[in-house]
Amino acid sequence: MTDVLVIGAGPAGVFAAHRAADLGARTTLVTREQFGGMAANDGPVPVRTLAHAARLMREARQLGRYGITTGDFRLDYPRLLDRVREVVHDIGTHAALRARVDGMGVARRRLTEGKARRDHDVVVATVPLDAAARPVIDGRTVGFCKLVVDRISHRILGCHVVGERAVEITQVAAVAMTAQLRVQDLARIHSPFPRTPPSWAGPPTSPPAAWAWARTRTDLGTSRPAEAVRSR
Ligand SMILES: Cc1cc2nc3c(=O)[nH]c(=O)nc-3n(C[C@H](O)[C@H](O)[C@H](O)COP(=O)(O)OP(=O)(O)OC[C@H]3O[C@@H](n4cnc5c(N)ncnc54)[C@H](O)[C@@H]3O)c2cc1C
Repeated sequence: MTDVLVIGAGPAGVFAAHRAADLGARTTLVTREQFGGMAANDGPVPVRTLAHAARLMREARQLGRYGITTGDFRLDYPRLLDRVREVVHDIGTHAALRARVDGMGVARRRLTEGKARRDHDVVVATVPLDAAARPVIDGRTVGFCKLVVDRISHRILGCHVVGERAVEITQVAAVAMTAQLRVQDLARIHSPFPRTPPSWAGPPTSPPAAWAWARTRTDLGTSRPAEAVRSR
């Protein structure tokens, strides 16, 4: 039996379904075509991928000013369109974390998971960077973001990132911790698409903050997952 039926799995529909399920409604999400709607398939993701290619071209032209010599480069447009399709596919499927760790940044704010466990009852949400749109579009998907949260107070105790832009990502969590935001407050901050961790607010991305929040609630038995079905 269903309390809430949501039609259309674009950002609005997925968000509505998550919210209804969070509030305890038996929720069914029905969509045609791909999950993610226009945002993931036809709109910002392809556009931002093309924009990223333009940014790379612009930056490549500056290499000589920094003493970096390369051969000629040129735009292979069919290859770029292949890349757009790859990104759309990867964002659609939330590809699994790959194991390579070379060349990545590491950043940590506040308590490690081990230290937090000494004094707190904690929940931990670890999400691969390639579950968010921005790292996939930028082609910098290797790594993860981990949030450590107090199960009772829902305060964020620590944030740890391995990957590109690790310092910037943890800075968001640092602001949230200083402001004593609860993890659900962080999860609700609606960042512009395409999103980066740690809030990644709004489905269809998989925000560590939302995961951590859901876990505190699920462990208490207060939330039911949304069912997702596709229609033709
Ligand atoms: C080129 C471009 C660039 C953009 N850039 C940005 C950006 O940078 N940042 C940003 O925030 N927004 C951007 N947008 C806008 C963003 O894509 C939309 O605002 C967003 O996708 C709207 O979400 P939605 O869930 O309302 O609808 P949609 O994304 O359109 O999703 C609706 C879903 O419902 C399904 N559906 C419809 N009717 C039915 C039915 N009868 N039965 C079953 N399923 C159905 C559709 O197949 C679709 O999957 C951009 C849009 C475009 C076109």
